[in-house]
Amino acid sequence: MVRVRFAPSPTGYVHVGSLRTALYNYLFARHHSGVNILRIEDTDRTRYVEGAVENMLRTMEWAGIAFDEGPVQGGPFGPYVQSERTELYRDHADQLIAHGHAYACFCTPERLDQVRKAQQAAGIPPMYDRLCRNLSKEETDRRIAAGEPHVVRLRVPIGEAVRFEDMIRGEVEFDSRTIDDQVLLKSDGFPTYHLANIVDDHAMQITHVIRGEEWLSSTPKHVLLYGAFGWEPPKFAHLPLLLNADRSKLSKRQGDVAVEDYRDKGYLPDALINFVALLGWNPSATEEIFTIHDLIRDFDLERVNKAGAVFNREKLDWMNAEYIRKQSPEELLPLVRPLAQDRNYVVSDDYLVAVIRCMQERVRTLPDFVDFASYFFIPPDFSDVDEKYKSKHWTPEAKERLRALLPDFESLERWDHDSLERVVRAYSEANGLSAGKLIHPIRLAVTGRGMGPGLFELLAVIGKPESVSRIHRALVTLS
Ligand code: GLU
Repeated sequence: MVRVRFAPSPTGYVHVGSLRTALYNYLFARHHSGVNILRIEDTDRTRYVEGAVENMLRTMEWAGIAFDEGPVQGGPFGPYVQSERTELYRDHADQLIAHGHAYACFCTPERLDQVRKAQQAAGIPPMYDRLCRNLSKEETDRRIAAGEPHVVRLRVPIGEAVRFEDMIRGEVEFDSRTIDDQVLLKSDGFPTYHLANIVDDHAMQITHVIRGEEWLSSTPKHVLLYGAFGWEPPKFAHLPLLLNADRSKLSKRQGDVAVEDYRDKGYLPDALINFVALLGWNPSATEEIFTIHDLIRDFDLERVNKAGAVFNREKLDWMNAEYIRKQSPEELLPLVRPLAQDRNYVVSDDYLVAVIRCMQERVRTLPDFVDFASYFFIPPDFSDVDEKYKSKHWTPEAKERLRALLPDFESLERWDHDSLERVVRAYSEANGLSAGKLIHPIRLAVTGRGMGPGLFELLAVIGKPESVSRIHRALVTLS
């Protein structure tokens, strides 16, 4: 039975890397008809952020990632919030001490700081110098009884190779000399990530640990802890790093990294999920569009790469546009409606559906529906008009022609694409003009722009009274 977990530390927003970790766990669990668990790792009180858990839950729900056990669903291995399990970790730390796998350390932060500085000055990697490692039991007990603040550290064996098999990287080996005597329990009695993480993975019967590469260097400590407890470790799979286009580590400086930012900018969850699924996983098909069902069917860890995965924002935009195109205007309506409302655009559902239909092929994100073509909602004020376009197409002759054409528009009974096209073509043929001589100035008068969807289509959406009045107004105000 596959049991996997997503174990975020609630420190604010959800990083796209965390979304990928959550997604791969979810896909792996569903693919194997296993159990997907959410566990909140909130034992680092200094990093605690109010509301972060709620935000995480909302974001996972938006993304469509479901959990079978967790703080909301409950389950047989709860509680699923580490700050509610601290006693368990203390008991386990005591067990380790009793068996000689851990020891109490009384070094003050000031001393540790001095040691670190001296090591840095000597050019050696900073590590605890193990001063307290060999204190006698009597001294340790006496100092604890006297209430001296202390932490509990892992007694890392000397001169051992710590090996484990990673499902993505193959065999990984660390020399135990490079492994610090990791703090397991802090002086405030809270566990560190390492202790709580493995105690819970064991208690919750996790079979596969699927997480980001940044945890790879922690894994030997975890393997030592499993050994110290006499437990069988789970299987490990470390996912490749996410990179910027220049192959540096994915950073905020080169664009958004928070899932919430993508949500707020109008990316569709299915598009983001599809995109994130491909960050490191190489499906055998050449196809790039995958529904969640396809992903569940096809996902496997064997096709996850070791090499870093570039987070290509242009590709995400392309994918989002693909997803927008796949939906019907009616499906998009409830997503676009709040955006129109935010901008105080008052329009009927039918009108908004018509705008969506007209723009669907041209937008990349949802806000584009209301921002690319604000002229669907408010008349142009020509404040940002393209001067070159205007001087080319808004000539005295063009204005004359529009004046002459207007009565034909006004008397038009059916204001639809074909009728409008017919009127414009008839006029231009009768006057020996190319249709462009009319189309450009009409577009400018009605939209204030030089580009956009087909003119007849957009006029049909905007409607006769509004279109005609905009042309009249432009003839008077636009010089
Ligand atoms: N709490 C860790 C994090 O924030 C979990 C790492 C792991 O999955 O072991 O990512």
